Amino acid sequence: MDLKLVKENKIFCDGKNKSDGHPRIYLEVSDTKVTTCPYCSMKFKRK
Ligand SMILES: [Zn+2]
Repeated sequence: MDLKLVKENKIFCDGKNKSDGHPRIYLEVSDTKVTTCPYCSMKFKRK
């Protein structure tokens, strides 16, 4: 499982850090729950 801790409450994911990438999408991130990218299943959480 990949979990990336970020400082921003809005980030984008393009999948490049995991595979060949996907269209860039913006995701809202909170510090109380994990946000999962629907394309690459990368998980984000605020620090
Ligand atoms: Zn992604």
